[in-house]
Amino acid sequence: MELDSLYQEVILDHYKHPLHKKLLPSYTAQVHHVNPSCGDEITLNVSIQDGLVENVSWDGVGCSISQASTSIASDLMMGKTLDQALLIVEAFSKLMSSKGNEKGDEDVLEDGVALAGVSKFPARIKCALLGWMAFKDAALQSGKN
Ligand code: ZN
Repeated sequence: MELDSLYQEVILDHYKHPLHKKLLPSYTAQVHHVNPSCGDEITLNVSIQDGLVENVSWDGVGCSISQASTSIASDLMMGKTLDQALLIVEAFSKLMSSKGNEKGDEDVLEDGVALAGVSKFPARIKCALLGWMAFKDAALQSGKN
């Protein structure tokens, strides 16, 4: 798999120094998501109060794409309103279904655009989506509580 070298660096940096990769003891919802086709696995905690994403923390194992992507997603969601966060997840899902034809909006996705090239590789899209789908799942569960 070949990605733009600058983007590759962003991904490797998140992989080596993942953000928020330490489960916080207090949360409003916790989910565990796996991507069996690759062996990626994450547990993700969210803390959402009054429609605001106060905290996202996670732990997991897996390939560099899945771990970097979860690091990027967790950092991006922090401090957003739940509505904003869900729109960002939607924008990222759309990017991942673009088959390499979209670059992504950096104002919305920030480091997430580094994963745009992954959309050309169907086998890896689930790796890239894992953390985002886990967040969405947790966020929606949290809203029900
Ligand atoms: Zn993977």
